[in-house]
Amino acid sequence: MKARLQVMKFGGTSVGDASCIARTAQIIANAAKENPCIAVVSAMSGVTNRLIEAAKKAELGNAGEAGAVIDALRKQHEITLTSLIPREEEHARTRPRLEEVLAEGRRLCEGTALLRELTPRALDAISSLGERLSAPLVAAAVKELGLPSEAIEATELIVTDSFHGGAEPQMELTRAKSQARLRPLLEKGIAPVVTGFIGATTEGQLTTLGRGGSDYSATILGAAMDADEVIIWTDVDGVLTADPRLVAEARTIPVISYREAAELAYFGAKVLHPKTLNPVVQAAIPVWIRNSFTPEKPGTKITPEGRSIGGGVKALTAIRDVTLISVGGPGIVGLPDVVGRTFSTTAEVRANVLLISQSSSQNDICFIVSTVDAQRTVEALRKEFAHDLAHHKVEHITVDSNIAIVAVVGENMRGTPGIAGRTFNALGRDNVNLIAIAQGSSESNISFVIDKNAVKTALNTTHREFHLDGSPN
Ligand code: ADP
Ligand code: ASP
Ligand code: MG
Repeated sequence: MKARLQVMKFGGTSVGDASCIARTAQIIANAAKENPCIAVVSAMSGVTNRLIEAAKKAELGNAGEAGAVIDALRKQHEITLTSLIPREEEHARTRPRLEEVLAEGRRLCEGTALLRELTPRALDAISSLGERLSAPLVAAAVKELGLPSEAIEATELIVTDSFHGGAEPQMELTRAKSQARLRPLLEKGIAPVVTGFIGATTEGQLTTLGRGGSDYSATILGAAMDADEVIIWTDVDGVLTADPRLVAEARTIPVISYREAAELAYFGAKVLHPKTLNPVVQAAIPVWIRNSFTPEKPGTKITPEGRSIGGGVKALTAIRDVTLISVGGPGIVGLPDVVGRTFSTTAEVRANVLLISQSSSQNDICFIVSTVDAQRTVEALRKEFAHDLAHHKVEHITVDSNIAIVAVVGENMRGTPGIAGRTFNALGRDNVNLIAIAQGSSESNISFVIDKNAVKTALNTTHREFHLDGSPN
């Protein structure tokens, strides 16, 4: 039988401490005994957040506090190494590598503190240290199980543009580099353990793919290496019908389509980074979401076509860190280019627009962006419309951050009448006030805007209405 290449990604909780890393190493070793396998790992859970905090402290000139974070990380990784690998002489192979990365971190924080300036490039360099520390630990744990393994930094594999904090891969260059570096290892039966989250420009400058980006790293490598499947190991049993932290009855979905999973990811389901599926669509590589704490469970399979479940609605999601911006006033009816100018402005500041809604009277254009993008978007709009605001052609540009988007997702909603009606009736019964509504032309998503405080009620009400907990209709 032809060898099947797997790319397996392990998230922060799957490498959260020594016992989690040991479990992860076992999963890698079991898989690699059967077939070639490339592992992609995140930083130990919480580490990226702490590194970003350290970078911000350094920016304020506080080198001492930033250094203390690095010292604490040194201790954490050292303890993990000693409890993973009992024999002292084996530590000598991994410890120098950890020390090197930590020393680099210390220098980066000192330099930042000295200049009191945190460039996007320095922030990427600091926030990526966690993956550079976890990969050698995981590789050491795999070797401890008797299987050859090597930690590899993705700067050697993934080539990106220079958009720090959200870099995009250049697939052809990535394919050439990944094949050249990883094929020889796989042929020798060595399991590579690659740092998630990071890449490098053609000049070799380190970049990051955005928060939660290790999922994306895994599918980028899956596509570049012509993998047969990508498995994303996390801390839940798969893609669930809703975020289990908000809906207790949420259930695992056995099979879901790329489109449905992408809609969920795009509208806030943290289980997948929003761009995860982009690299694998063309080659139709299946992606699995599985629980590293219960590896005996099958998880969710994400495939090009998914599987029909009748009913239409497959899952719900909510996105809360968003801001509603509205541009309006009676005068905008006479301003034909107001829509064009609004969205050229959002494009100029690279704000990702998640939802657009325009009332038929055209008194108001509302749209939603991530809260992190809101301030610079509004500033740019006020500049763009300064003249019209002064002459009262545009009356207001307002923001509201107390809102959330809830999305009802399911490919088979197409051609299933009444889903919007049922959703909004149920919400009305439970007194959830709708601020705006949008339905994508694909009909695989109905999204609505509500008050942030109503998210939990809205999700639970809709979950019950569509019997997503599996109860009979
Ligand atoms: P990792 O560290 O493995 O990348 P994340 O914390 O990024 O894991 O993503 C997994 C989390 O996503 C789960 O613990 C769960 O709370 C959350 N989540 C949100 N929506 C969903 C959903 N629809 N299905 C599964 N998990 C979800
Ligand atoms: N460690 C990175 C983060 O916390 C990437 C990831 O975990 O996917 O954002
Ligand atoms: Mg994640």
